[in-house]
Amino acid sequence: MTASVAFVGLGSNLGDSAAIMREAFAALGGIPRTEVLATSRLYRTPAWGMTDQPDFLNAVGMLRTELPPQALLRALLEIEREAGRVRLDDGSDRWGPRTLDLDLLLYGDRVVDEPGLTVPHPHLHERAFALLPLLEIAPDATIPGIGRAADALAGLACDDIQALPCTTAAPPRD
Ligand code: AMP
Repeated sequence: MTASVAFVGLGSNLGDSAAIMREAFAALGGIPRTEVLATSRLYRTPAWGMTDQPDFLNAVGMLRTELPPQALLRALLEIEREAGRVRLDDGSDRWGPRTLDLDLLLYGDRVVDEPGLTVPHPHLHERAFALLPLLEIAPDATIPGIGRAADALAGLACDDIQALPCTTAAPPRD
């Protein structure tokens, strides 16, 4: 089975976002037939519009996977679902607010346009908070149909996006 390199965008602005992102990186490594090749630092973006919201944290992970894009997306949505689950003291759980957003940004040089899955992610080229962490771990990344990710970022404002110290983004070690 051939493997592909895929990039996943992570975002969170509810709960302990830094911890949630670390757990998400660990969960990505638990996806079958998939390994995490690199993780970016966490990037803090102030919430705009409704400014009483907490800041957003964003990051990108680089995966090597043998899963086809649709199966990889299903695994990502399951990780998202688990992150939104709040465990109660009595052992039961309930669905909490959405604390983690995972996007399949790139899957090799593939273009996928199917119900429920669009790759490259349709907003990747216009989101500095996704492009900055992507370029940190893949400076030569190309967005099929768009061009170089670095060129896409050059046209965007990113002054208010700040990388946190790299130790914050490291996946937990056993
Ligand atoms: P959102 O909550 O805006 O992140 O949208 C999630 C939904 O978008 C999922 O149910 C996916 O089926 C769909 N979707 C389509 N393309 C993608 C993609 N490249 N990455 C993540 N979700 C996607």
